[in-house]
Amino acid sequence: MPGNPQQFELLGLTNQELMAVVEALGEPRYRARQLFDALYGQRVATLDEISTLPKTLRARLAEEGYRSGFPAIDQRFVSRDGTVRYLVRFADAQTVETVWMPDGDGAEETEESATPGPSSNRRATICLSSQAGCAVNCKFCMTALLGVQRNLTAGEIVGQVLLVLNDQQIEIGRDRINLVFMGQGEPFLNYENFIRAARLLVEGAAIPESRMTVSTSGIVPRIAEFGAEPVRPHLAISLNASNDDLRERIMPINRKWKLAELLEAARRFPLRSRERLTFEYVLLSGVNDAPENAREVVALLSGIRAKVNLIALNPGPEIPFQTPTAAAVESFQQILVAAGIPTYVRRPRGLDIYAACGQLKRSTTLLSLT
Ligand code: SAH
Ligand code: SF4
Repeated sequence: MPGNPQQFELLGLTNQELMAVVEALGEPRYRARQLFDALYGQRVATLDEISTLPKTLRARLAEEGYRSGFPAIDQRFVSRDGTVRYLVRFADAQTVETVWMPDGDGAEETEESATPGPSSNRRATICLSSQAGCAVNCKFCMTALLGVQRNLTAGEIVGQVLLVLNDQQIEIGRDRINLVFMGQGEPFLNYENFIRAARLLVEGAAIPESRMTVSTSGIVPRIAEFGAEPVRPHLAISLNASNDDLRERIMPINRKWKLAELLEAARRFPLRSRERLTFEYVLLSGVNDAPENAREVVALLSGIRAKVNLIALNPGPEIPFQTPTAAAVESFQQILVAAGIPTYVRRPRGLDIYAACGQLKRSTTLLSLT
């Protein structure tokens, strides 16, 4: 906190860590559980409002420099299709974007989550940012134009979810919420905070890991590490090209890890029963959307229990690519489907408010100019 170096944020701490905090104050351990439930389960925004804790304990925590604060909603853009794009601001004034998509983004649905429970009511997907900006520098992505500004803490990642759930008045258990780590940033370049956030959301906010998907541009060593996690979301890999030459042109990360290495890691990834590995493929007109590219994708994915999400490029200023025609998207899809690969075309969401993938944050600058 600027001007107050003695502040310690509670949001982002595990139950175990909260136990150490309350024990150091001479308080019984069960207070940690109350604190944990208030933060992540009841989504109480400030320490002061946690009424399950005695006033004296709240005051002592504050004296010791502990605080808890959700990020703030700086701006909210509501799309005609119901999508809401939140500009979320953290304590140091850094901002990222978080997107609320009602009804879920069909393409993210998993076998388990495709069947709503009898008591479920509202259904939606929340798209989370893991970093402010991104260092990976994919040529079709507007977040890349920001460069990486910083990693988000686990508390900041979790905070985005809690904030949006409160704003949308969601009741976990009644409503069915999916989470996708597909906003700004490369989650596997902020691995520790990302995985801690996922665990806290499972344990504290009761959102099952089967309703979460993390997308990576292909940080190969992290794929194996992620596969070994006892609690983990589903994995999506941004393939986006069908051979090394092409992938290197649009995703510089491919210079570090070639397709052979990436797909080897994908092949070794320990899938659960009925689970599929998702491959995302952003179609760029005349660049990677030819039938030949589709056939190369089929060959690359052979032997992997995969599904493919095709995303027609969301175009934008400073992005030197064009969106493919609907016919090109359809023939690409047909080739994959004919080869037995379940392939979905992702519906563009919130286009009128620039809420689409790869447009996060950058568009705020543009919108605020108009
Ligand atoms: N950094 C991670 C997750 C965030 S990007 C990753 O790259 O996987 C989430 C998805 O948006 C990726 O699949 C990416 O390829 C896609 N994307 C980026 N820019 C896009 C654009 N302009 N149009 C459509 N999809 C885009
Ligand atoms: Fe980063 Fe993903 Fe955008 Fe690539 S597509 S620059 S990895 S956010």
